[in-house]
Amino acid sequence: MLKGKSAIITGSTSGIGRGIATMLAREGADVMINGFGDKAEIEALRQELAKLCGGTCLYSPADMMKPAEIKDMVDQAESAFGSVDIVVNNAGIQFVAPIEEFPVDKWDAIIAINMNAAFHTIRHTLSGMKARGWGRIINLASAHSLVASPYKSAYVTAKHGLVGMTKTVALECAQDGVTVNAISPGYVMTPLVAGQIPDTARARGISEEDVIQNVMLARQPTKRFISIEEVADTAKFLCSSAANSITGANISIDGGWTAA
Ligand code: NAD
Repeated sequence: MLKGKSAIITGSTSGIGRGIATMLAREGADVMINGFGDKAEIEALRQELAKLCGGTCLYSPADMMKPAEIKDMVDQAESAFGSVDIVVNNAGIQFVAPIEEFPVDKWDAIIAINMNAAFHTIRHTLSGMKARGWGRIINLASAHSLVASPYKSAYVTAKHGLVGMTKTVALECAQDGVTVNAISPGYVMTPLVAGQIPDTARARGISEEDVIQNVMLARQPTKRFISIEEVADTAKFLCSSAANSITGANISIDGGWTAA
């Protein structure tokens, strides 16, 4: 379905981003992966995805906190692939603390990576998509783009902002064949979620098992974690022609969380 197209997926060395990069490669897109991690594991992933897409898979170590590195990543993809047709703004971090104790550097990092990075990838890729008359921008938001939870002020702020950006850019390129959408999952068991269990337990003064059952899954009427594949399939759908008229949307995959 995506042969001849090329994609950048930020934060794709792990979790949801890795799942989406794998899905887009399986559909034939050339992919640029990005994110941090063990060098050998990233190289193994790059080779696996190159084989899967039957084309090119590149890795960019760009730090999504650094606008100049984001520009370098886009330039590198454009010169290797000839275009960037799909951008998945997925890189994200989390930190959990009451706002009076929220470390300023954590606040700044969450806003930079989870929100500002999308501004930079979009501003460097949108004119090319418009000129070619086709493009897909997919922003990984969260159920926390629609509702709040205590102790997640920076994350909730960034995700609400990211959805505002999604709607605005969708309007700016509505007649250019470029769609801009957000995907808002509930809890998906990835390293990002596993990592916040001990912090939430500490902040709330409860056990880690209580965090899973009574904080995380308590919010999801289906009482199960969302799978990475369910999120990746939605990204694939948004890249298909069936989704040509879906733009400016915020698609919930949250087991009913935000219906309550
Ligand atoms: P993860 O921790 O498994 O992966 C995050 C990725 O981002 C990694 O590849 C990491 O290296 C990369 N990254 C972190 N900081 C970076 C930086 N400065 N520059 C470049 N890359 C960086 O997380 P995940 O759970 O797969 O989350 C992916 C996205 O989905 C995030 O935006 C997150 O907010 C969102 N999300 C996750 C869940 C969930 O339950 N896991 C739910 C809703 C939304």
